[in-house]
Amino acid sequence: MFDKVLVANRGEIALRIVRACNELGVASVAVYSDADAGAPHARAADEAVNIGPAPSAESYLLGDRIIAAALSVGAQAIHPGYGFLAEREWFARAVEAAGLVFIGPPPDAIAAMGSKTAARALAIKSSVPVVPGSGGALASAAQAREAAEEFGYPVLLKAAAGGGGKGMRVVREAGELEAAFGAAAREAKAAFGDDSIYLEKYISQPRHVEIQILADSHGNVLSLGERECSLQRRHQKMVEEAPSIAVSPELRRSMGETAVRVARAAGYVNAGTCEFLLAADGSFYFLEMNTRLQVEHPVTELVTDVDLVQWQIRIASGEKLTFSQGDIVPRGWAIECRITSEDPANGFLPSTGVIQYLGVPSGPGVRWDGGVEAGSEVGLHYDPMLAKLIVWGEDRAQAIARMHRALLELTIDGVETSRDFHLRLMEDAEFKSGAFDIQWLERRLDSLVAVSPPLDGLRAAAIAAALLAEEDRVSRLPAAAAAAADDQWKSAARREALRG
Ligand code: ADP
Repeated sequence: MFDKVLVANRGEIALRIVRACNELGVASVAVYSDADAGAPHARAADEAVNIGPAPSAESYLLGDRIIAAALSVGAQAIHPGYGFLAEREWFARAVEAAGLVFIGPPPDAIAAMGSKTAARALAIKSSVPVVPGSGGALASAAQAREAAEEFGYPVLLKAAAGGGGKGMRVVREAGELEAAFGAAAREAKAAFGDDSIYLEKYISQPRHVEIQILADSHGNVLSLGERECSLQRRHQKMVEEAPSIAVSPELRRSMGETAVRVARAAGYVNAGTCEFLLAADGSFYFLEMNTRLQVEHPVTELVTDVDLVQWQIRIASGEKLTFSQGDIVPRGWAIECRITSEDPANGFLPSTGVIQYLGVPSGPGVRWDGGVEAGSEVGLHYDPMLAKLIVWGEDRAQAIARMHRALLELTIDGVETSRDFHLRLMEDAEFKSGAFDIQWLERRLDSLVAVSPPLDGLRAAAIAAALLAEEDRVSRLPAAAAAAADDQWKSAARREALRG
């Protein structure tokens, strides 16, 4: 086992990895930007190294500086977390070239899965079903039109280098194709520096179900079951569950075997995830493999009792998996809500400010993977995810009830958050029934963001009294000052009312 590991990330995931190091008896080293000086992840680690100014391009994305930091403190390995440098093949190679261990897959496996078109080709070669679509990148909108006619509308244009839903466009008819092709290519160029676009048949109302795998360097590759990730807004996951209500034990076995086949074909080692679209008739299609730890890994941890982050470190240090496929039987139900500093009532606009108060839920079956505390400044430099709230229950109904209770216990003052959106989702009858697909949340969004959460009597009365008093005060002010005061007051009142 390593003596010392450097964590090349920030926020909740850096803290998560530091915790795993602590439990393994491994010293941890955090890196932080100027904006993150004194942040929870930097304080939690045994050592912390400043790596530059707030913009990630000048700090968390500077691979060479991070490697130099690791060497300077005598770390033997680097855990990249997710995002930032986690799926950069060049970074994994540079870490190895510096004589350090990259806690993740071999660079060749990252390369094999780095392009969606290459990953599709590998899957096809391994007899793994993929969504029908163009073989490789399309040279022009005209070529895209030919392919679209072959597969039939609607189609989905995708960036070969894609991630995070960027560079994707649904095209419902031929007339929309040219503009969508141009837009997707421009977006892909801006996001990934690569404008290659390919095309897939757009599957109507599937689920997004992904399989977690763990592979050691001794040839053992195991599937840890599925995660249900269909609840997405703009192709971004918002809530995840394990297991999936749509997956039977037979389907789990078959999807698991498929994911293991993909991992073996890519020469995969460490933790990885194969994403699939699951159609209503039970057929499934491989989408891509994420060659890193996923944001939503805790739901798998809670139903399998396997600590994925500790295993990432143990595998990287050469250890063999101590369990086999037969030992992996999901137990109970886990749900994760991504708590972001976004304002659902205003189109999920990012909200910035200083967290004035943070009341974290606890009690039976509740896990809080957070990266912020009271006093943390939430700016626009980094991802808006503040924390993940994860619960475990004996079954799905208990998990939903528990998540609802935990969300009620959560208070974040100072920035707008997605908390109330999640509360309403947990109250939604269709969500509770499990009858949803990847487009469901978008269809349902209006009702989930428009309705005010129930206020308890006392609080509602207090707000009403304050509103009346304020109205009275404002009515006595000169006109311009009154308008300004009114605006300020309304936004404060809205924040208060939303908080419930
Ligand atoms: P990214 O890497 O940008 O996240 P993915 O290929 O993983 O892109 O797709 C993101 C999401 O887009 C999926 O979870 C799914 O909701 C939707 N999606 C992807 N491919 C298709 C398809 N062929 N038909 C319908 N929806 C799709």
